[in-house]
Amino acid sequence: MSMSKQPKQKLVVFTGAGISAESGIRTFRDSDGLWEEFNISEVATPEAWQKNKALVLGFYNKRRQQVLNASPNAAHKALVKLELKYDVHIITQNIDDLHERAGSKNVIHLHGEINKSRSTVDENLVYPIKGDTIKLGDTCERGSQLRPHIVWFGEMVPMMEIAYEVAASADIFIVVGTSLVVYPAAGIVDYVPTATPKYLIDPHEIQVHGLANLKFIKEKASIGLPQLVNELLNTSN
Ligand code: NAD
Repeated sequence: MSMSKQPKQKLVVFTGAGISAESGIRTFRDSDGLWEEFNISEVATPEAWQKNKALVLGFYNKRRQQVLNASPNAAHKALVKLELKYDVHIITQNIDDLHERAGSKNVIHLHGEINKSRSTVDENLVYPIKGDTIKLGDTCERGSQLRPHIVWFGEMVPMMEIAYEVAASADIFIVVGTSLVVYPAAGIVDYVPTATPKYLIDPHEIQVHGLANLKFIKEKASIGLPQLVNELLNTSN
């Protein structure tokens, strides 16, 4: 008798601001397109950076402090358990590091990472932020002002191609806490094979068109995700 070890199924999870909402980090949607008290176009665009670097740095310094004070919730933690059985890949639109702090291994950040800074003359010069702030006058090794390592509205999304590839090879696909309105990120769902079972978890109704094999779970992430994870861990495939 031989024991043939089946390769693990590839399970891809696409997350948005909603998965971190119960960790106390507000979503766009729940704040009327305002991120806390700021108008997004005044803080999250290249134009904003050109116009007022101090304002933009101050905005992200506040977001960073908020993230540092937050902890992963039951939804982030549930995703870690999936690794017992599946080859799990997380594609997140979030700039927080709550997936990593929960213990997830493979995390692709489409929109950057709040706890890193980068050069304004060479995008490959990326640094961990010491403490919780980037200040005017903080420079990269080539002497340019450091900016947050964030993809702003109107900028290219460098991780997009790799994310499409990961989505296109998913055996199971889960979407959690994203309104699927910010492009190109939201377009990922169109790359998932038709036959792949898909699950979408969100407490609000989400408009998705033309997605085959989709099960909508109308729940908060901290409730819906642990339930789905238990189901997936207990199926016999
Ligand atoms: P979004 O704000 O457009 O949508 C959030 C979605 O989460 C909504 O559909 C909402 O119904 C849902 N939601 C709210 N509470 C939830 C909960 N408890 N459980 C599950 N779902 C819940 O967010 P988005 O689609 O991610 O796009 C917004 C952009 O804002 C992204 O590009 C992201 O980079 C950025 N953003 C990031 C963070 C973060 O890093 N935590 C926070 C806010 C915004």
